[in-house]
Amino acid sequence: MKCGAFSLVGIEGGRCGVYPMRCKKWGCPTCGLRRVKATMARTKAGMSLGTCRFFTLTSPGTEDGDTSYEQFPERWKRFRMRVERRWGRIEYIAVVERQKRGAAHVHVVYRGPFIPQQWLSRVAAECGFGRVADIRRSNPKLMRYLAKYLTKELSDPKAAPPRYFRRVRWSRGWCVWEKRSRAVPYNDWWILDTPSANAATEAARRGFKVQEVVADERGNRFERHWAVRWMRDMVGYRPVSPLLPSAAWQG
Ligand SMILES: [Zn+2]
Repeated sequence: MKCGAFSLVGIEGGRCGVYPMRCKKWGCPTCGLRRVKATMARTKAGMSLGTCRFFTLTSPGTEDGDTSYEQFPERWKRFRMRVERRWGRIEYIAVVERQKRGAAHVHVVYRGPFIPQQWLSRVAAECGFGRVADIRRSNPKLMRYLAKYLTKELSDPKAAPPRYFRRVRWSRGWCVWEKRSRAVPYNDWWILDTPSANAATEAARRGFKVQEVVADERGNRFERHWAVRWMRDMVGYRPVSPLLPSAAWQG
């Protein structure tokens, strides 16, 4: 689905609210940037709870990208178990990034005891990662690095991980974090195959009192194009059933 190409219209009595449907992909200029911002905020929140350190694990030097991503979850699990057995529980956020040669690297920020570089390097290798492991105290540049890894895909689609690969992983105790959601006072939901600005105009034309319109940020640029599309494609409201859960479209 093209991001924002469809709208959700909530209706209650004669009132309605119009919201763009988002793709939520990391590679999307709108949704990707939002996800990066949310991830950074959550990282920051956890970092404020205690001393943090930062290390990077690589994939073995000769390995190709696909294999390194396939192997990653198992290696990461083994590695985490080894760390916790030796150093006790750590709280972390881990960001997996595709390196130039295509292989997965993982950047880990953690709260917990100091881990000597030698131990880290040896155990990383024993768990299937590359031998090079680098550890340091978290520093002001850290957030910038993380933002760079997370936004890489926005400028370079080749940097995307394989489909369905989870690129950010958190330990449960990293920080308290609740997804923001809000109560929306509508009972009926309709899906419309047009961006929210058009959908709102159409709703108003049909006599609804439009209480809220969340505009697609890119809307203005395509206004004229959409107007043409609207004339051609608009066939009116189509009901969706069952109703989409609100979590599917709230950003
Ligand atoms: Zn999107």
